[in-house]
Amino acid sequence: ASIVAGAIGALSEVMGEAQRAAGATERLLELMSVKSKIQSPVTPLALPPRAANGAALTLNDVMFSYPSRPETNSLDHVSLDIQPGETVAVVGPSGAGKTTLFQLFLRFYDPQHGSIKLDGVDITQLDLHTLRDAIGIVPQDTIIFSANAMENIRYGRAGATDEEVIEVAKLAAAHEFIERLPQGYQSFLGERGVRLSGGQRQRIAIARALLKNPPLLLLDEATSALDAESERLVQSALEAAMVGRTTVIIAHRLATVQRADRIIVMEDGKIVETGTHASLVALGGIYANLAALQFHNVHIAH
Ligand code: ATP
Repeated sequence: ASIVAGAIGALSEVMGEAQRAAGATERLLELMSVKSKIQSPVTPLALPPRAANGAALTLNDVMFSYPSRPETNSLDHVSLDIQPGETVAVVGPSGAGKTTLFQLFLRFYDPQHGSIKLDGVDITQLDLHTLRDAIGIVPQDTIIFSANAMENIRYGRAGATDEEVIEVAKLAAAHEFIERLPQGYQSFLGERGVRLSGGQRQRIAIARALLKNPPLLLLDEATSALDAESERLVQSALEAAMVGRTTVIIAHRLATVQRADRIIVMEDGKIVETGTHASLVALGGIYANLAALQFHNVHIAH
C-alpha cells in the first residue's frame, strides 16, 4: 500500500466511502483530524531542541492492528531506535508492514500497545501540526496539482519565494526539465496541462520535501522501473534530500539499500533482520533472497 492510499483508507474508515475526498494528502489529513479519533492533546508538549542533523525516532514494542482487521497484527512487537541524521531503509515482502510503519509515524492511527517517540516525546503528546510539520513525505504516487510548476513545488511550503523554489528544484534535479517546458516554471501541469513522466513527478515531490526542510523525511520509493537516465536523476535528487536530516525509506532499489546506514527487514509485521547491505547479504537470510530477486539493479554510470 502507499501513503496516499493509506490516508484515504484511514479517512474512509472514519468517514465512509461516500465522503472520500480525492485530492491532496494534506487536505485529507485536515479532514481526518476533524473527524478522526486521532486528535491533538488538549495540552500538547513542545518538542525539545533537536540535533542539527535531524530528528530522533524511537519505537518501543509497538503493536498495531487495523480497526477493520483486529485479529491481524500488522505490526508485531516492533522496537527501533533511529538516530538523528541516520538513513534507514525498510525492506520486506508485500504486506510486511512497511507502509503501516509510516502511517503510525504520521499518526493516521495510534498503536494499541507501545510507543513512538519523536525527539524523546511520545507523538500522542504532540499537537498534530507539530508532528506533521516535522515530517516530510515523498510518496510513491506523487500528486501533481492543476497549477503551474512553480506552484506545484511551492506546495511544499506556502510562502516560499520563487528563488527558493528554483533553488530546491535545482537540488532535486527538476530545474532542467522545468526550464525546457513551453513556459518554464509558469507551465501548467496536471491532467489538463503538461503530463509529467514518473521520474519527473518524483523529482517534483523531492523538491517539495526539500522546500519543507523537515528534520524527518519519509520516502516511499517508487516500485516502477525508470529508464537509466531518469533513475540517475532521481537518485541524485534523493541523495540531496537526505543530507542533514533523518531519513526512513521504503526501499526498492539496490542503490538505495547499498547507501543506507542501516537496513531493517520486515516480515509479517516483525523486524526479522537488521544490518547493512553487505552484512545481510553475507547472512544469507531473507534479505539476501530479496536482494537477489526484487531490487531494481540499475547500474548507475558516474
Ligand atoms: P507493500 O510492499 O505491498 O506496500 P507493506 O509492507 O507496506 O506492503 P502494509 O501495507 O503495511 O505492508 O500492510 C501490512 C498488513 O496490514 C498487511 O497484512 C495488509 O493487508 C494490512 N493492511 C494494510 N492496510 C490496511 C488497512 N487499511 N486495513 C486493514 N488492513 C490493512
